[in-house]
Amino acid sequence: MSDCLFCRIAAGEIPCRKVYEDDELLAFHDINPAAPVHFMIVPKEHVDSLGECHARHELLLGRILLLAPLLAKEQGLSDGFKTVINTGKGGGQVVMHLHVHVIGGGKLSHL
Ligand code: 5GP
Ligand code: ZN
Repeated sequence: MSDCLFCRIAAGEIPCRKVYEDDELLAFHDINPAAPVHFMIVPKEHVDSLGECHARHELLLGRILLLAPLLAKEQGLSDGFKTVINTGKGGGQVVMHLHVHVIGGGKLSHL
């Protein structure tokens, strides 16, 4: 059993409020939302962070970014949304499994 939280969520060992799932990707609502809509898109394959991505992750990263606007729209964010990728300790990343936050529906900080 993995000790990575998002690997365990991806494996269905820990429940989540699912937004989207396919063979490679899972999207689920953040447990501590920063705005009325706040979900994360994660690869099912474990990658620590954006800082650990290589050329072989190119397609995966592209898929995550292209999925973001589709899911944002489905979640009612017709006006736009913010994407955040915290990378490593210095970037404020807490869960060391690559994830893209998609946030919107309220007043957001500029950065
Ligand atoms: P990070 O700071 O690593 O970019 O973001 C990690 C995010 O994961 C945080 O926004 C936090 O609220 C969220 N999170 C932490 N534990 C859980 C959990 O068990 N379930 C869900 N759905 N989100 C979590
Ligand atoms: Zn993981």
